[in-house]
Amino acid sequence: MPAYLYDLIARRAPSPQKIFIETPEGRKISYGDLHAGSARIANFLRARGVEPGDRVAVQVEKSADAVMLYLACLRAGAVFLPLNTAYTPAEIEYFLGDATPRVFVCDPASREKLTPVASKVGVTHVETLGVREDGSLIEDARAMSAECVDVERGADDLAAILYTSGTTGRSKGAMLSHGNLASNALTLVDYWRFTSNDVLIHALPIYHTHGLFVAMNTLLLSGGSMFFLPKLDPDLMLQLMGRGATVMMGVPTFYTRLLAHPGLTKEATKTMRLFISGSAPLLAETHREWTARTGHSILERYGMTETNMNTSNPYDGDRVPGAVGFPLPGVSVRITNPETAQELPRGEIGMIEVKGPNVFKGYWQMPEKTASEFRKDGFFITGDLGKIDERGYVSIVGRDKDLVITGGFNVYPIEVETEIDELPGVFESAVVGVPHADFGEGVTAVVVLKKDAALDEKQIISALEVRLAKFKLPKRVIFVNELPRNTMGKVQKAELRKTYGELYKK
Ligand code: AMP
Repeated sequence: MPAYLYDLIARRAPSPQKIFIETPEGRKISYGDLHAGSARIANFLRARGVEPGDRVAVQVEKSADAVMLYLACLRAGAVFLPLNTAYTPAEIEYFLGDATPRVFVCDPASREKLTPVASKVGVTHVETLGVREDGSLIEDARAMSAECVDVERGADDLAAILYTSGTTGRSKGAMLSHGNLASNALTLVDYWRFTSNDVLIHALPIYHTHGLFVAMNTLLLSGGSMFFLPKLDPDLMLQLMGRGATVMMGVPTFYTRLLAHPGLTKEATKTMRLFISGSAPLLAETHREWTARTGHSILERYGMTETNMNTSNPYDGDRVPGAVGFPLPGVSVRITNPETAQELPRGEIGMIEVKGPNVFKGYWQMPEKTASEFRKDGFFITGDLGKIDERGYVSIVGRDKDLVITGGFNVYPIEVETEIDELPGVFESAVVGVPHADFGEGVTAVVVLKKDAALDEKQIISALEVRLAKFKLPKRVIFVNELPRNTMGKVQKAELRKTYGELYKK
């Protein structure tokens, strides 16, 4: 049996001439190039002593060669370990020390800085990979054969470790198997009706599950093509929509930024068949505005690093603003009381738990942490709070740890945020709990106003008084120009809690 996931990709590949990647500079990589290039790198890795099961840690900029490196790891039986390009040397030291990779691949410009960091934790093999077909890895791999015998891997063997963003405590390495990735990608190809005619606009980073697995594995298993952009670029994305693109996958920020572009019209998006959003909540208002401007209804889905994709709005049928749709085929989702683990009736808010072939194998070298996040019957406790409505649509209320407990009452931030966002003049908001001597936590709203709007704190609180129970009302409203977000578009609530931590200490 050859490398499980790569074998599936190779068996479903279209003709070798078919273009897989096109970059804005006009570089084109065909499926044949991908096969040959990944074989060369796999041979190179093996020549450097990479054995099946060894980790290959990678902190490089997005490029077609980085994609080949990912596939090469699958073929060599290695475990691909991508790292956010924003990580500092101190963070890299932690990841390398924790994952003990056989090889670390970094950007050519970082080699000098990161080699001593790697060797400090015993990683002696450092290679480089740049965005201009440069770097020691790619240069040395050129001399290697374009044929390789893929290392045998089964569904349960590890394909990748992705560290979770870890807003509290140490970042954890989620272990994903070949079977996890393959099953989820096959499901998504079907559910979202991908075919070899699809051309995806890919502007997401490839160190995260969204850009790496949801976007790329799905496309690879459908034999489609992609425009490969280094980052979000509304001008270019709109041009590409006119050049034969059919699908875009993005985080909510992609949609708000495109909505701010006057070029976004029905005409501009007429070759598109599907817009998908995930990784962070898409405001219902954004969903509606998008439909009004383009005639397309955004398909929102929900997943996480540990589980791949769990739920999705339907391809046919209602794509409900503010909901993340139905459990994907083969995935079980239930809502439980976080304390008692009892399953809750429809409509009640509780912990989202999932089970299925998509769910990871556990956290790297953290057996106790892994055990504490699974129920005895195999369900994974996601840490997301949500509910399932009468029609079976799942919606997310927020992260468990973002729940505000004030004077003994639970306040779900989204409920307050939704009311604030509906006030005329408000662009968006984030509600957090901040230490408060009397209440334990004080409900605190951080608000971004629309341009030229002139609302003040008092006006917002009095407008909410008629809509929300008293205990849910923000004790303070703070105005900012923008909310802190990471590259995946997630609002950094931990940062807000830190920034305003002293607000009630007077
Ligand atoms: P990550 O592991 O970085 O992909 O983050 C996963 C987390 O992102 C989930 O546990 C959710 O809290 C959040 N998330 C992903 N998709 C959505 C969505 N469509 N709506 C709301 N939150 C989402």
